[in-house]
Amino acid sequence: MSEHGEITSQETDVPLNRMETNGTGVWFFIEHKDDEVDEGSLKLAGEARLLADKLGQETTGIIIGSGVEGLVGRFGSYGIDSAIVVEDDRLGSYIGETYVDILSQLVEPNRPSIILFAASTIGNDLAPRLAAKLEAALVANYTEIEIDKERKITVRKAIYGGNAQATIAPLRSPLIGTIDTQSLSEQKAKSPKDTRVRKASVRIEPKTSTTKIIDYLRADPCAVCVSEAEIVIGVGKGLGCVENLDAVEELARVMGASIGGSRRATDERWIADERRIGLTGKTITPRLYLVCGISGAFHHTLSIKGANLKVAVNKDVNAPIAKMADLMIVGDMQEIIPELTKQLREIIKPAT
Ligand SMILES: Cc1cc2nc3c(=O)[nH]c(=O)nc-3n(C[C@H](O)[C@H](O)[C@H](O)COP(=O)(O)OP(=O)(O)OC[C@H]3O[C@@H](n4cnc5c(N)ncnc54)[C@H](O)[C@@H]3O)c2cc1C
Repeated sequence: MSEHGEITSQETDVPLNRMETNGTGVWFFIEHKDDEVDEGSLKLAGEARLLADKLGQETTGIIIGSGVEGLVGRFGSYGIDSAIVVEDDRLGSYIGETYVDILSQLVEPNRPSIILFAASTIGNDLAPRLAAKLEAALVANYTEIEIDKERKITVRKAIYGGNAQATIAPLRSPLIGTIDTQSLSEQKAKSPKDTRVRKASVRIEPKTSTTKIIDYLRADPCAVCVSEAEIVIGVGKGLGCVENLDAVEELARVMGASIGGSRRATDERWIADERRIGLTGKTITPRLYLVCGISGAFHHTLSIKGANLKVAVNKDVNAPIAKMADLMIVGDMQEIIPELTKQLREIIKPAT
């Protein structure tokens, strides 16, 4: 239990000492790369708008960087009231120490009710830094923020590997939350707004940084996080043994796919825990999800709904995954995967 938050089991009827929403507004942090707003930040905007509507407050996006003012125009269609822009040539790359210093200068005099971050590399770094600096309540990886008729806030998140759910009552504002933006759907506003742009003048002290970004390297598609990959191959209990993963990795290299899987596959230690897809893992939204030897339990399928095309490989024609798949290849994945690799290699063989 933290000094600023109180955790109780959802099942108990212990009254929650919930935070009175005495803050002003729901803020969210906008991420961007290569002159483009991150898609997750657009989904976060919709989440911020929904919460602000329940609180009867305004929504504000914060963007920090070099030459970023032009990026905030997209947020009008998400019903965002205003954007705070902090621009400086020294802010071209993300540096946690500098960004948190800037954010705290913006937040302290305004004390918003809620500040949302994507549970991304940057959000996961920045949100706890800000919470520590402001002595605010942080709920990492929340699944839902509830606001009751009296405008009191409670937050839910999965705990104990998803076997239980915590209900957390922050005791003071702002509440800082991170969320897997893949679990959010894009929510454009019914009535778009003319987002007011507010240029903030803040003290920028890059010298506080203890880190420096030297270079960005393009990731190997097979190593990309499953929630960010364009193509995902999922493996389940049907893989049989870890040795059979070699053939899956070969196919993944040919397809440029990231490998994930079911809880059975992570429990068997065939793939790393962070590659688990499902209720207690990641939500995925690839163009193609190749589901191999996974039965299709709802704990898994609820996180694959956003996949554009779902192709199942399963030896059981009646496996539950059949109801959800767009296409099903019925047979032994140990035979089908090498054959797929061989045929795809033929198709994508460079012309001689
Ligand atoms: C609280 C809770 C949270 C959970 N969270 C998650 C979660 O986040 N993610 C998740 O995935 N699960 C989760 N689970 C577990 C989930 O309920 C299922 O048990 C799990 O998804 C099953 O994994 P599976 O499909 O790999 O294995 P199985 O259900 O055993 O299915 C194996 C499938 O492989 C097929 N098969 C077998 N051999 C072959 C072969 N040679 N070739 C082709 N097909 C073959 C079989 O026909 C079968 O359909 C959770 C459960 C609980 C209780």
